[in-house]
Amino acid sequence: MSLDAPLFTVYCTCVVGLLGLCMGSFLNCLAWRMTHGESVMHGRSHCTSCGHTLAARDLVPVLSWLFSRGRCRYCGERVSWRYPATELLCCVVYVSILLRYGLSIEATELVAFSSVLLVLSLTDLDTYTIPNVTIVAAIGIRCAYIVACAFMGRDPFVLLRDSFVSGLAVGGAVLLLSLVMDRALGRDSLGGGDVKLLFVAGLYFGWQQCLFLVIVACVVGILMGVLGQRARTGSQGEKSRLIPFGPAIALACWICMLCGEQVVGWYLSLF
Ligand SMILES: [Zn+2]
Repeated sequence: MSLDAPLFTVYCTCVVGLLGLCMGSFLNCLAWRMTHGESVMHGRSHCTSCGHTLAARDLVPVLSWLFSRGRCRYCGERVSWRYPATELLCCVVYVSILLRYGLSIEATELVAFSSVLLVLSLTDLDTYTIPNVTIVAAIGIRCAYIVACAFMGRDPFVLLRDSFVSGLAVGGAVLLLSLVMDRALGRDSLGGGDVKLLFVAGLYFGWQQCLFLVIVACVVGILMGVLGQRARTGSQGEKSRLIPFGPAIALACWICMLCGEQVVGWYLSLF
């Protein structure tokens, strides 16, 4: 279904935007629980500082943070700006996918995939690891999309073959490159999670778009490294010199969702 009527577009944008805000709040909570070893299925939302159970009025995306001036209502401890920022980002990502793909099966797939990307970005920022469960979830979403396509008359086996050939080509090439760089630099260049995530990107975008994706991810990664270096003041140690590459790959995936096809088409038209 396309978004032809302006009023309908506005309505869908509002609904999806609200969904994005609420999902952003949920994904924040999910990522926090994953990095702190808490059950993701059980337990009420609570302040990460004093442990007080949060009421409904504490859980309104963005607004709760604004009205409490970025502090816990119970203990007064600062609540990171990252929470409302993630909620807003999730809203923007969902709406951008809706406007690009309309109400379609592709949009559903990419909204689900970008939710997984958001969670693994948050865990990578905090712990320098991309949990395997997020990789499995992303592969599961792709497989569910292929099954849904089969019901809509597309050949699922061709889709499955193309996806996995691209995934293995991209993941394999990146793994090989990282092994060579490890040797040349004498230290780890890319984490195992990054290689797995690029395999997943290959499943979704095909190897041609992934060339563009890897370039974007490298540029973003370098920028993050430079900005991170400036932001750090005296925190030394091995981990402080690492750059979490997951968020850079995730951002590149989002850019690929929005304009990857056009960029590859434009590049090929040059020849
Ligand atoms: Zn508190």
